[in-house]
Amino acid sequence: MGCRSHHAKGDGRGVNRDDKAEIENETRVVQAGRRAEWTQGIVNPPVWRASTILYDSVADLRASGKRDTHHRLFYGRRGTPTQWSLADALTELEPGASGTLLYPSGVAAIATALLAVLSPGDELLLPDSSYDPTRALAGGLLARMGITTRFYDPMVGAAIAQLIGERTRAIFMESPGSLTFEVQDVPAIVAAARAHRIVTLLDNTWATPLLFPAIARGVDYTILACTKYVVGHSDVMLGSVTAGHGRYDALRTATYQLGQCVSPDDAWLGSRGLRTMALRLKAQGSAALQIAQWLKMQPDVARVLHPALPDCPGHDVFVRDFKGGSGLFSFVLDGGGEAARAALIDGLAHFGIGYSWGGFESLALPVDPHHHRSCTCWHAEGPLVRLQIGIESVDDLIADLDAGLARFRAAR
Ligand SMILES: *Cc1c(COP(=O)(O)O)cnc(C)c1O
Repeated sequence: MGCRSHHAKGDGRGVNRDDKAEIENETRVVQAGRRAEWTQGIVNPPVWRASTILYDSVADLRASGKRDTHHRLFYGRRGTPTQWSLADALTELEPGASGTLLYPSGVAAIATALLAVLSPGDELLLPDSSYDPTRALAGGLLARMGITTRFYDPMVGAAIAQLIGERTRAIFMESPGSLTFEVQDVPAIVAAARAHRIVTLLDNTWATPLLFPAIARGVDYTILACTKYVVGHSDVMLGSVTAGHGRYDALRTATYQLGQCVSPDDAWLGSRGLRTMALRLKAQGSAALQIAQWLKMQPDVARVLHPALPDCPGHDVFVRDFKGGSGLFSFVLDGGGEAARAALIDGLAHFGIGYSWGGFESLALPVDPHHHRSCTCWHAEGPLVRLQIGIESVDDLIADLDAGLARFRAAR
């Protein structure tokens, strides 16, 4: 087992071990976070449940409060080896990262990262393609705290520099946007932010570090809704934030002060999902691309919003920056309305109708992006359908969609 020797070295956070520099991420997701002292020889780190940790003496108890509690049992809220193992594994997938913290959902991860960075009077720049709960946080809690949000066109690129004002403190990115799939020029935005000493945050849920290593691209905080591809089985809520160089302590302080913590059982399921994430992403990415290409040829489909296809805004940036695509994309129907779209979706045999994505099973969702826009407009030839492609047979999924398009034609 190579794991033991790999894990003998390290800086205590399990990051950037030199002896791991040359291995591929497919190997990393198998080995990462499995430190010998946490696994005790068991392949997967077991579930360590705890609230109280017992000390040998009053002196021992007092000393524990003074030492760094990182990766040391202190109190259940600070975690046990079960949570540390998953956090460490996510750090190892991001070359250059300084540490990862876990959250009870992706939204909790986004909220904590923003609260770690922003103070009253600050301005946040948020892409107009943002995930709706991120917009709700900006317009709700952040606004109430005196933090203002300026929405920007996700395709802004280097011109973001012109939007940076005196009070701008952070730039949030989501690439691609999870409904309409605009691919952002993250390196250009990061360069502008650095020139103005502004913090950058990226919701990297679609690509994961396997397809877009965000910290290596200069992002300060990269966020995953682990609920999606890390967990991969549609049965756990989980989030993570991985911090770049010099950014970990501020995140940890905010996380502890907000009392954010994750159940060891959920972290364990996250670790279990992570081991197959590279395999699932490859299969789901390849199936999604085949289905997207098939949809593009159908006369009832006006546009396919998949970053690997030229119709998608930011396609050139995708080709330049990403190692591949994942399993989520949208298509625009050519005309038709709500009822025709419902006829398509309702009769699907192999696609569930529901929120979330990243699991092993396919989903279809009606989405209406114009409800979630502030500074850009959404124009489309017809209604939009978002597909999450699972690991079923591509032929079965295409036949199902073919029948769906026939229902759409009959109902429009
Ligand atoms: C689902 C999702 C989230 C939120 O994750 P939860 O675990 O559901 O809270 C954040 N960002 C994106 C892009 C998502 O799709």
